[in-house]
Amino acid sequence: MRTTLVRRTLLPLTLAALTLGLIGPTGAGAATDPGLFEVHGPNTPEERTAVAATGAAIDEVRDDSVVVTATPSEADALADLGHELTEITPSPVLPLAPDEGYTTFGELRETIDEVVAAHPGIAAQSVVGQSHEGRDLVAVKISDDAGVDQDEPEVLFTHSQHAREHLTVEMAVYLMRLLTDEYGSDARVTELVDSREIWILPNVNPDGSEYDMAGSNWRNWRKNRQPNQGTSAVGTDMNRNWDHLWGCCNGSSGSPSSSTYRGPAPESAPEVSAVADFVRGRVVGGEQQITAAIDFHTYSELILWPYGYTYDETAEGMTREEYDTHAALGTHMADANGYTPQQSSDLYITDGTINDWLWGDQRIVNFTYEMYPSSWWGGGFYPPSSVIERETSRNREAVLRLLDYADCPYRIIGEEEAYCS
Ligand SMILES: [Zn+2]
Repeated sequence: MRTTLVRRTLLPLTLAALTLGLIGPTGAGAATDPGLFEVHGPNTPEERTAVAATGAAIDEVRDDSVVVTATPSEADALADLGHELTEITPSPVLPLAPDEGYTTFGELRETIDEVVAAHPGIAAQSVVGQSHEGRDLVAVKISDDAGVDQDEPEVLFTHSQHAREHLTVEMAVYLMRLLTDEYGSDARVTELVDSREIWILPNVNPDGSEYDMAGSNWRNWRKNRQPNQGTSAVGTDMNRNWDHLWGCCNGSSGSPSSSTYRGPAPESAPEVSAVADFVRGRVVGGEQQITAAIDFHTYSELILWPYGYTYDETAEGMTREEYDTHAALGTHMADANGYTPQQSSDLYITDGTINDWLWGDQRIVNFTYEMYPSSWWGGGFYPPSSVIERETSRNREAVLRLLDYADCPYRIIGEEEAYCS
């Protein structure tokens, strides 16, 4: 398998890197281990969707290429599409061993306990479910009188659906600290905490992130750690498992070995089911209390909005004004953090994402942030922990802008009377 691929590469990969198991989820050399490739040629959403349809996970979109995580058979399928592939060896900035500056799940639990203990009036935690391996899925609520369900607009932040995107957990830690430490000293933070109910789910895929950190090298793992029937291939891509037009549109894979495996049914991943139940549980008196949300990912420095399943801006359940609200708010936030704002499907088609579900099923104005860096060559999923402070605080103003508009997101297009009175 590898030999065939090596011949196709422009820059022959270092075989030593492969045999040493520097990439691939199970150490050295199993024939089905995914690798990293730059796929040359695709430069339109349609061409990139054809790449994704092989089951390869598109990690990065470049001008005339994409970076993918692909199994050997997916890589063969990409070559069959007529693309040249370059296998990417770990970049110079990729540390081989997990960087201890990143927060483990155990450390995250301690941090949450500490934040709640230090700010009992404005921070509370609850467990909304368990992961496949039995880890708690924790929700942190930050609001004045956090123990009481008040009639205030609610905002949802979800983190780490994809295991290897560790910077998103750091973003959750940053937000917890920002909204508690600066309460009472920063007037804007104080006003937002007083007038909103903010939910932070700091790690919705703890099994995956622990697995990614647990080896002697980073494992480039994306999915959860749920076994699949009839195969040794492990894991479901949580962000293809949500129950809105699940598997509809060539935007996910039906093959368990794929990094974008959608699972056998919507919400088959216990983590997705638990978070979806939590969100549905925020419907009070027939009205969804959550008005705005961000799902944090890495990398590429993008702000994305729904839909992902169609190239069209407006579609069933998405009017022109609703689309314009997403686009205006996404652009307003991007003005603050320097990310590129666009509709999710401008990259390629995805289906079964939280982005599409939060809007299509729950009518929550919502965004995906793809955080730092902008490229694989800038660190990809594994930038050094020295960037954590800079790259989380970089989103301070953007997140505060979302919280500002949570009373009525349609205010940003001047339509608060039509939508929020
Ligand atoms: Zn992701």
